[in-house]
Amino acid sequence: MVKVWQAEEILPFAWDAYNEIGNFLGITAISQKNLIDFFPNPHQRQVFLERIEENDEYLHSYPEQNQFNPFFNYDLGCGEIRHCYIAHLEILLPAWKQQLKDNKQLFEENFEFEELIIKEHSVQYKNVTAEKIIFCDGLSSFGNPFFNPLPFAPNKGEALIVEVPGLPDLHIYKKGFLLSPLPGTGAFWLGSNYHWNFTDADPTKEFYEQAERHLKAWLKLPFKVLDHKAALRPATLERRPFVGLHPHQKNIGILNGMGTKGCSLAPYFANQLAQNLVYNIEIDPLAHINRFQKLLSL
Ligand SMILES: Cc1cc2nc3c(=O)[nH]c(=O)nc-3n(C[C@H](O)[C@H](O)[C@H](O)COP(=O)(O)OP(=O)(O)OC[C@H]3O[C@@H](n4cnc5c(N)ncnc54)[C@H](O)[C@@H]3O)c2cc1C
Repeated sequence: MVKVWQAEEILPFAWDAYNEIGNFLGITAISQKNLIDFFPNPHQRQVFLERIEENDEYLHSYPEQNQFNPFFNYDLGCGEIRHCYIAHLEILLPAWKQQLKDNKQLFEENFEFEELIIKEHSVQYKNVTAEKIIFCDGLSSFGNPFFNPLPFAPNKGEALIVEVPGLPDLHIYKKGFLLSPLPGTGAFWLGSNYHWNFTDADPTKEFYEQAERHLKAWLKLPFKVLDHKAALRPATLERRPFVGLHPHQKNIGILNGMGTKGCSLAPYFANQLAQNLVYNIEIDPLAHINRFQKLLSL
């Protein structure tokens, strides 16, 4: 219900970028859906209705209040959020990987820092010489000697992949959890949670049981759990990404710290980084790595 940072620029940019790469690869990389928000408690309902009164751009009333009665239990009614997007990473990432492999532009191997040689105007990694190297290594940045002082604040998230025969895949549904269609599969993504204290990145029994219990109470239809996923999000202490060239190593750059919003933020900031590298156009100071100049000189 709170508008995300720079929504006006970032969301339309993401829509265009995913469509462009989808057209290039001949796949559907993004789809637009509305989100049906089933109010989980009277307070949330009240806040939602107040936002509608304020003519919020994204939150709307949903006149067909009984439309979802055959599928869900929802005593407090629902509202609509639009426009929302689903980035189909499960389709995009394998297709992009294949494209890079076909062009011999991808080495599927672990990057070894000992093999990296930094020269005055170039970098060399094994038999590859380049002007610059950009690290997009997610939470592995903890082990990255150039960027490990950055204030990452990783958080763990889990999700279930569920099959719900008979549930229309025309909307994203929300009531505490998100239930989001994975088009073409008949399955839905049910997630997620946020944990800042964790010992590993493995799926937990607690989440499985909590999510299953929640879905049983919310859905009127039978469902089957197909998969259980868990991973760490590369979040940052001040919830802003890390973008740009290292303040003290001009041949080394980073695009990271996308946290809970990699799908929406990454296209926008990847473009900012590319524009900066090629045309010297400034990166948003709130995302630029220069803000950690002191920290990165230690
Ligand atoms: C449960 C969950 C739900 C989420 N939901 C959403 C959502 O709804 N919307 C949204 O926008 N975001 C969501 N996210 C966050 C999103 O997944 C991240 O922001 C995004 O994945 C970050 O992308 P990245 O490329 O920076 O890092 P990563 O996705 O972590 O990618 C880093 C890559 O670098 C590779 N790598 C690292 N080290 C090395 C090395 N030494 N050698 C070779 N390769 C290496 C890794 O293998 C990996 O492929 C969610 C995350 C989780 C866990």
